[in-house]
Amino acid sequence: NLPDPAIALVAVKLSTVKRKYLVLSGKGGVGKSTVSTLLARAFASNEEANVGLLDIDICGPSVPRIMGCEGEVVHQSGSGWSPVYVEDNLSVMSVGFLLDSPKSAVIWRGPRKNGLIKQFLTEVDWGTSLDALVVDTPPGTSDEHLSISTYLSKSNIDGAIIVTTPQDVALLDVRKEIDFCRKTKIPIVGVVENMSVFICPKCSHQVELFPKTSGGGEGLAKECDIPFLGRIPIDPNLAKTCDEGINFITSYPDSPTTVFMIDLAKKL
Ligand code: ADP
Repeated sequence: NLPDPAIALVAVKLSTVKRKYLVLSGKGGVGKSTVSTLLARAFASNEEANVGLLDIDICGPSVPRIMGCEGEVVHQSGSGWSPVYVEDNLSVMSVGFLLDSPKSAVIWRGPRKNGLIKQFLTEVDWGTSLDALVVDTPPGTSDEHLSISTYLSKSNIDGAIIVTTPQDVALLDVRKEIDFCRKTKIPIVGVVENMSVFICPKCSHQVELFPKTSGGGEGLAKECDIPFLGRIPIDPNLAKTCDEGINFITSYPDSPTTVFMIDLAKKL
């Protein structure tokens, strides 16, 4: 098989992007898109940084909703597809912008998904060079993951941030995700444990809603010899801001989640 010429094209296109991260999860619903959007917002909280957020969760694009830009349309110009700007320094590209309605289902086979991912990586006009690009992926290790790992194989990506909940049932799938990264030579930045605890808003008592039978995300990170990046509690305000497309980072600047995400963005 001859290498796809798009691999070199993507490498040229992304050569000016300073930091490139994939956000992965073993399972759906563990908070991968929430973490992707928080990370993009955290990077963009530095006003001097230009940030791009690319959503390749083709069958379940939730990024437009969380970023408050659902229903926007993207335009194709001479220099490529123009992403949707949610802030002066933060732009978003998602398959969600290409659908007739947020309720439309995308029923595509692998090659078509592959084609779209290739277009997203080569044809989006991110404007001036990006300081950070965050890529939100679908759950699991599906066609989209194979496409993205192939197309990014010569693009020096900084690595994957893996999101999990503390439950064994989620951790099981995360091991597969880690194995996938190792086989496809995607560097792993580390694991974020989401929905770690619930903190009672009245008395601040912490409740572990999910059992951490085998040590949760931290135990898994130790077992797989990868960094543990930290925890995000279950927070009704986070769920609400995601549903309403409101910026959690500026709305709740003192929340432990904001502090963690800003700190993570600085460390990355
Ligand atoms: P995924 O991308 O893994 O499928 P999402 O990021 O879409 O998951 O999150 C699934 C749901 O859980 C969303 O409704 C989101 O608002 C909510 N959610 C995620 N993380 C948290 C959290 N830490 N606290 C409260 N709600 C959360």
